[in-house]
Amino acid sequence: MMAGSRKRPREAWMQAVHCLIETVGDCREWQGRMSGKTPVHSAPAGFAFEGSKAGATGVRGLIYEERHGTRVPTGHVIRMRCRNDRCCAIEHMMVMTIAESVQEMSRRGELQTLKAQPGRLLAARNRPTKLTMEIAREIRLSTNSMTKEAALRGVTRQTIGLVRAGKLWPEAANGASVFSWRPAA
Ligand SMILES: [Zn+2]
Repeated sequence: MMAGSRKRPREAWMQAVHCLIETVGDCREWQGRMSGKTPVHSAPAGFAFEGSKAGATGVRGLIYEERHGTRVPTGHVIRMRCRNDRCCAIEHMMVMTIAESVQEMSRRGELQTLKAQPGRLLAARNRPTKLTMEIAREIRLSTNSMTKEAALRGVTRQTIGLVRAGKLWPEAANGASVFSWRPAA
């Protein structure tokens, strides 16, 4: 399956996991299989974590472990602040106990008003498109720190960074032609 790869099998498999994650707005959306509201991927024995059996494993847990070098603590779950079921963005993860997660759901009104969710979800997914070209220009010209600019605009530091690097709204860059514009990969 991983023929031709010089990487160790676990690394190659993890790379394949990353290839199934796509940037959508501020979110990183899983393009693979879902188990209910949870992104999952099938893992050979011992790939999800040491001693794990072959089978579906949660993608968020893999991303979390990769970043933090440790598994999500026992008795804890990952919840996404963006409410996006397919999202695997490490920045959107909240690690909490199961009891806390129930409180959190209730606090957000998820249990009572299920229809409130699509609105919030849309807001997170569409965030970068909330920036007009005009605002993108202002962000590029501003001398504010990324943190200050992000707070000012109500977007993440990552978005500000992408705008300044010309990866988001490159058509707003000085001298850019609308004809040469391509969305960032
Ligand atoms: Zn997200």
